[in-house]
Amino acid sequence: MTVLQAEQLCKIYGSSKSVQYRALNNFGIKIQEGEFVGVMGPSGSGKTTLLNILATIDKPTSGRVYINGKDPATLSNKQLAIFRRRELGFIFQDFNLLDTLSMKQNIILPLALEKMPAAEMDKRLQAIAELLGINPILDKRTYEVSGGQKQRAAIARAIIHAPSIILADELTGNLDSKAAKDVMESLKDLNQKMRATILMVTHDPFAASYCDRIVFIKDGSFFSEIRRGANRPAFFQQILDALSVLGGNFDDLSRTRHS
Ligand code: ADP
Ligand code: MG
Repeated sequence: MTVLQAEQLCKIYGSSKSVQYRALNNFGIKIQEGEFVGVMGPSGSGKTTLLNILATIDKPTSGRVYINGKDPATLSNKQLAIFRRRELGFIFQDFNLLDTLSMKQNIILPLALEKMPAAEMDKRLQAIAELLGINPILDKRTYEVSGGQKQRAAIARAIIHAPSIILADELTGNLDSKAAKDVMESLKDLNQKMRATILMVTHDPFAASYCDRIVFIKDGSFFSEIRRGANRPAFFQQILDALSVLGGNFDDLSRTRHS
């Protein structure tokens, strides 16, 4: 089943002709249920623009998006807010956890917003906390846990309402290599054991090597695509090769170090 489909997306920034910039150019992507897909491309290639459109936060200048068969462009603002809350899960580079809440409260927030009964929330929380190994930190606040733990709590929050797709933006960007590995292992478990469908934008070839498939974007257009074979180290090398063909500048992020 197709979970997400985008067709011929164009995004032009700027209103007057002289300052117009085409950030996306006839870009298309199709994601099947249970897939774990990465999007990579140089700085300024349109990754964030793409993610914002797929996240229904921004609208394309032209082209269509279907999530779970529905076109968000046909929804009112109020319907869209509900659609986003139910159908999508988000993981951000800077975690976006609320400091005034415990990890547990942060994680169940999407369910609390849906007014789910407490017993059902607890059942879901236990299952996901077990899978991600975050039981010991559930009562802690953001300042009491590490970056990797925060991101795993954010991953739990992104899946707990069983969204159609999880969208992640540079989720290892603020983590050291050990924490990045833990977080990617967690995301892999989510994908394999809970059949979560994931679309992840990343600069980091190591993080990308956990994906099933990588789509490369350049100057707002589809550039190439590679699929993972049996082993991750070989895929990592394939990704490095593809990036060198792609060219461009990757300096703006890549804070994650893998020595
Ligand atoms: P990436 O995430 O791949 O680095 P972006 O999607 O952020 O790329 O940006 C793609 C291009 O669109 C860049 O050249 C950027 O400067 C431009 N751009 C992004 N957002 C805006 C905006 N709000 N207004 C004008 N230009 C923008
Ligand atoms: Mg970006």
